[in-house]
Amino acid sequence: MLTSLKQKGLRMTPQRAAIVRLFADDLTHPTAQELFERLRETFPTMSFATVYNTLDALAQAGLSGEIRIGNAARFDPNTAPHHHAVCDSCGTLIDIPAPSLTPPEASVRRVRKVAPGFSVARVERLYRGQCAPCAKKAARTFHKQRS
Ligand SMILES: [Zn+2]
Ligand SMILES: [Zn+2]
Repeated sequence: MLTSLKQKGLRMTPQRAAIVRLFADDLTHPTAQELFERLRETFPTMSFATVYNTLDALAQAGLSGEIRIGNAARFDPNTAPHHHAVCDSCGTLIDIPAPSLTPPEASVRRVRKVAPGFSVARVERLYRGQCAPCAKKAARTFHKQRS
């Protein structure tokens, strides 16, 4: 990721490099705020703007995806085609690999019928439910309430 960013002509500072390094291995789809708080422990002088602008530069360069769920924009270092499973209890996002996000002709026609003129770029699925730890916790609470 660092090399591709340099190739795109982004100036690399030690702070920016640290942001990119932390983000590249992060599979939790963090918000800029979450990354900022984690980085501040090592870089007390880092500003939120630096974190946000770096993530934005990554997205512009096509090296990061952006997912909006509710109000929060979450950044995604996985640029391979994938869908997401989201936990309704804790907000965990899990990548579900997809062979392709290209919309089939039939779905494009269906969308156009409802939203004339809408240009469909890709289809991303969102599976909603509970992650394993939350499902386990819910099951335990359920048993406690019954006994
Ligand atoms: Zn959960
Ligand atoms: Zn993802």
